[in-house]
Amino acid sequence: MAGKEGPVIPRRAAGVVPAGPLHSGGFVEQHWLLRRGERFVQVSELLYRVVELADGRRSTEEIARRLTETTKWEVADEDVARIIERKLAPVGLVEHPDWLDATASARAPSPLLVNARLRIIGPGPIERVARVGQHLFWPPALSALLGLIVASQLWLFTIGQPGVVMQRLASTPLSLPLLVGLLLLAGAVHELGHAAAIRYGGARARAMGIGWYLVVPIFYTDVTESYRLSRGGRVRTDLGGLYFHLLVAAAFVGIHAATGYDAFLVAALLIDLDVARQLIPFIRLDGYWVLADLTGIPDLFTHAAPRLRRLFGKRSDGPAPPALRPRVRRIFAAYLALTVPIIVGLFGYVIWHAPAVVSRASAAVASRTDLLADASSAESSARDCSRPWRCCSSRSPLWASRSSSSSWPGSPRRRCGGASRPRRRGPRTSASR
Ligand SMILES: [Zn+2]
Repeated sequence: MAGKEGPVIPRRAAGVVPAGPLHSGGFVEQHWLLRRGERFVQVSELLYRVVELADGRRSTEEIARRLTETTKWEVADEDVARIIERKLAPVGLVEHPDWLDATASARAPSPLLVNARLRIIGPGPIERVARVGQHLFWPPALSALLGLIVASQLWLFTIGQPGVVMQRLASTPLSLPLLVGLLLLAGAVHELGHAAAIRYGGARARAMGIGWYLVVPIFYTDVTESYRLSRGGRVRTDLGGLYFHLLVAAAFVGIHAATGYDAFLVAALLIDLDVARQLIPFIRLDGYWVLADLTGIPDLFTHAAPRLRRLFGKRSDGPAPPALRPRVRRIFAAYLALTVPIIVGLFGYVIWHAPAVVSRASAAVASRTDLLADASSAESSARDCSRPWRCCSSRSPLWASRSSSSSWPGSPRRRCGGASRPRRRGPRTSASR
């Protein structure tokens, strides 16, 4: 922009909306949220305030003056221009004619995200169901229904005799289509549980559908809006799916007790196994988000990458990731020490066994006899039925990095201005690219 005259008037990029503070974060400093399209971006307060004031009418000098008047920072117009040029324009949060080429680069697809999403239900129909379902989180109703879940589980593992029932079911393979249908129904209700929980907290689910996570198809509910909720609201959203899932299991146990249909009791048992699997925190299933929200680190994997790079001595041009509170830092270190070898082992296992899995799948499709043979074992049939229909809530990760994911726009390493720094009131200049 060297050589240009006149005030520099930056403007928030289209679709960028200030969304308030990140509640109960695990960071030393308070962080703030900007909505950018369907994503949230986590930034420091100073960057948040600059974006908030960049309304297309104020010049950088006016923004600097306003920041100095209303915040703890003493800011010159050059500071504002530098922040916009180096931090905000490169990720597409603020735009200006002189920085038109500074657009956000797309993130490469990650196998640790829900990919190839096919949206099946939009926000309108979800809202109609969630508005009703949210009442199940009203504390008296929640207490009563949790009691019902506990009673049904006690009945299932004592009077229900699941081992005997599974043996009986194995001799009646025609029950398998019913079993698959029940598990699909339960998976759909699980997703409604996430939608109802986020609605109870005051936000809304954006979509439901089917996607791919790692190497399996899953149901997903987009609950990215839960970043705006309190810690309690986020954890409720994480656990809402499991709550509804276990309610379905309780209903299945009741139907089995009343009718004697074995498929209902086996479906309840498989739901229990699925709930246990969902609580594993090492991949982005419900247990992962519960741990993330309890610690106050909005997305564990997103925050892990730059820390691991630094741990292994990889130098980065960008500033360090935001500092964590001491207790959160210890928990996060323990989590990484467990998760990294598990993730590496998981990928190694998948790659090692992929040829055998593809071969078996081909054989199964080619031969109906193989399918019936598999059905002769109740245990193996149960696994086959439950495997493809995994359910999880899905959030876009908090986007806090530049294209290299090593620079944190939300973490300026210094305060602008300061007592020892004279405020410049000279001729307006702006940063040149
Ligand atoms: Zn879930």
